[in-house]
Amino acid sequence: MSKSILVTGGAGFIGSHMVRMLDQRGFDVLIYDNLERGNADAVTAGTLIEGDLHDSEKLHAVFREHDIEAVMHFAALAYVGESVHEPALYYRNNVTGTQSLLDSMCANDVKKLVFSSTCATYGEPATLPITEDTPQNPINPYGQSKLMVEQILKDYAPAYGLRSIALRYFNAAGCSEDGSIGERHDPETHLLPLILFEALRVQAGGNPADTNLMVFGNDFDTRDGTCIRDYIHVNDLCSAHIAAFERMQKTPTEGAEQFNLGVNRGYTVLEVIDACRQVTGVDFGYNTVARRAGDPPELVADASLAMSRLNWKPVHADIKDSIRHAWQWYSAHPPAA
Ligand code: UDP
Repeated sequence: MSKSILVTGGAGFIGSHMVRMLDQRGFDVLIYDNLERGNADAVTAGTLIEGDLHDSEKLHAVFREHDIEAVMHFAALAYVGESVHEPALYYRNNVTGTQSLLDSMCANDVKKLVFSSTCATYGEPATLPITEDTPQNPINPYGQSKLMVEQILKDYAPAYGLRSIALRYFNAAGCSEDGSIGERHDPETHLLPLILFEALRVQAGGNPADTNLMVFGNDFDTRDGTCIRDYIHVNDLCSAHIAAFERMQKTPTEGAEQFNLGVNRGYTVLEVIDACRQVTGVDFGYNTVARRAGDPPELVADASLAMSRLNWKPVHADIKDSIRHAWQWYSAHPPAA
């Protein structure tokens, strides 16, 4: 029997795309998710085990009863604003939850981990584009919680022989190419889905002047005054995880590594809106409002280290691919009114 990959948070947005890709590439997949924010019906392959990261007895049983080669760890809370108001939730879920997972892994001799980290660990970088050597100074508890786990992984490598790769995602976007699974957050706070929700509303006959879409600030020091982000297609993130797993197989004693995952290109909020208008063919409107607290003006990756060391390349570097796939998904699964 071939060994399995355990995907924590496999019922969430990125995790569910990971499960699907692993299955398509012939891996045996186990999913561990507490289903608090994930959706069981997003799990299209593998075996779903409902469980919490803090339930170490259950985790031990999972590792004992299955032949698991590696863990891809997505289970986490990921709302920046919520983390500011409820830091306890973030440190409990993202840090102590992860530590419980790592301790079960080590106790059961499972020593390979791909970890979902984030560009939010960099805070407001002084220089751009962001490389892995850019100082990490997170400005919210979410980013801080991910950075703390990166540090735990660095300490566990020499002490317990835990091999890990932390992937620092820039802005995840898009959905599966065939429209079979997609993004479902409640509440939805991300730019691209919110733009497409507005396009759907206008397409259904809504008045563009009554727009729900808000642009958070147009007075940043950028080319059009709105924030710049590096949007990476969810399946490009997933293919990087498989590349990271393969690298860990080839270099088992390398310790803890970290790589940026982005496409090395930034779009302003207004450029994203314009691209969405082109892809959808809907002429929707927006209102400019005050800046959102904690938004750095520009976050753009230098992902060349991931490209060379992981032998990986994003295939959907054009944001219009992400928009097309997400539009297909939301057109078939419009948000509840
Ligand atoms: N944004 C916006 N309106 C929204 C949601 C987001 O103008 O309704 C902006 C936000 O200020 C940021 C960018 O879009 O500059 C991407 O935000 P998102 O929440 O999607 O991702 P983040 O960069 O915060 O991880």
